[in-house]
Amino acid sequence: MHLVMLGPPGSGKGTQGEMLAEDLQIPHIATGDIFRRAVKESTELGQKAQLYMNRGELVPDEVVVGIVSERLREPDCKKGFVLDGFPRTVGQAKALDEILLGLGEKLDGVILLKVEKEVLVGRLSGRRVCRRCGATYHVDYTPPRRMGRCDRCGGELYQRKDDGEETVRRRLDVHQGQTEPLQIYYRERGLLHTIDAGQSIERVFTDIREELGRGQ
Ligand code: AMP
Repeated sequence: MHLVMLGPPGSGKGTQGEMLAEDLQIPHIATGDIFRRAVKESTELGQKAQLYMNRGELVPDEVVVGIVSERLREPDCKKGFVLDGFPRTVGQAKALDEILLGLGEKLDGVILLKVEKEVLVGRLSGRRVCRRCGATYHVDYTPPRRMGRCDRCGGELYQRKDDGEETVRRRLDVHQGQTEPLQIYYRERGLLHTIDAGQSIERVFTDIREELGRGQ
């Protein structure tokens, strides 16, 4: 299955995308994770992306499209993938259609996670990420057992630079302006599945599976 997760930062794209990918036994590909890794390793790509990321702005399409195009050609994507954080603009959506056409494939569905803005600000500014394994926590909703330490690997938890409240608000505005046309693009093609993502993690996941015809 070739799927795209759509929704503002903090809507649960990462969490639900990972759960879905595990359920379907296909890779979960998050462009934000790819960029964060590149920044950490200080590659050429990382240095380019960092300037935009720190300001809460989008990395230019030609950079992102190149990365995704390479990633989707890897053998583990043969059975499908769950894309998370890409596409974010109509230009990227069209580029994705072309990449898939070149691979003899097409998109099967787009999951849109809908959540109120103030809920998102609360979710994002309370988010903490493990420096070592990338696991995510929330100071109120899913706190780690030991403060500041990852339950999975014991790594140090930190707040992403772009999760500070001011940057979060800018990211949400950027997101809204650029991705609304994307929702229209996919709705017109009959691919959009809208999910109420203000519910619990388990409930949202159940709704997604039902939408994809995988309910019990
Ligand atoms: P995320 O983890 O998805 O919130 O992404 C973090 C940051 O990476 C974003 O604020 C952008 O600067 C950059 N980024 C990730 N995916 C994309 C994309 N598809 N297009 C442009 N920039 C992106």
